[in-house]
Amino acid sequence: MKKIGLIGGMSWESTVDYYKILNREVKKRLGEPHSAEIIMYSVDFAEIEKHQSAGEWGKLSEKMISIAQKLEAAGAEMILIGANTMHQMAPRVQADITIPLLHIADAAAEKIEAEAYKKVGLLGTKYTMEGDFYKNRIEEKYDLEVIIPESEARDYIHQVIYQELISGILKDESREQFKKIIESLKEKGAEGIILGCTEIPLLIKDQDSSLPLFNTTELHAKKAVQFALKEF
Ligand code: GLU
Repeated sequence: MKKIGLIGGMSWESTVDYYKILNREVKKRLGEPHSAEIIMYSVDFAEIEKHQSAGEWGKLSEKMISIAQKLEAAGAEMILIGANTMHQMAPRVQADITIPLLHIADAAAEKIEAEAYKKVGLLGTKYTMEGDFYKNRIEEKYDLEVIIPESEARDYIHQVIYQELISGILKDESREQFKKIIESLKEKGAEGIILGCTEIPLLIKDQDSSLPLFNTTELHAKKAVQFALKEF
């Protein structure tokens, strides 16, 4: 089994899910008492958030590269960045390590393609929804169209992520608003929804959506286990 290098803590609320899914998937495939081999570096999210809001993406790149290199030196055989937003620097991280970085957007897009959907809505931080690094990767590499909510809804989602979800605060009121946003994407032709923030699955479950949901935390972790067990 390959060792999984996980950059966690972005936020730790979703890293808990990564940890559970990685272990459960290994157990499912190999049986009890198997579990995943994981080397994790969990960051102080306050520092990450401060650099993000100041637009200091260069500093964040350096930090991610340095952590990925530490995980590689410790024996990790792949890198997972446990957040969608922080994939903004994924190409730079990959360039500075010799082990593969499993990209979270690929994990989502492969599943969407396998289910033959063509047009999907994307929910995430404003960095993820509005930046090129995520949508363009999916649209250029896969035969998919990605649409995002209107500006006001993007502001709302972003604020819920940073003021509630990363602190583990789950409000019914926010869930109801997310449901409305999902419906508005459906009206624009979305056939499925990418939960492109690793904390959104804490709030939004399958029953909250009339469209299929693509949970990036789960898909990313499952892809890592497939790779660890040499299934691709
Ligand atoms: N975990 C989040 C994501 O998947 C947001 C927190 C962060 O900015 O890293 O994008």
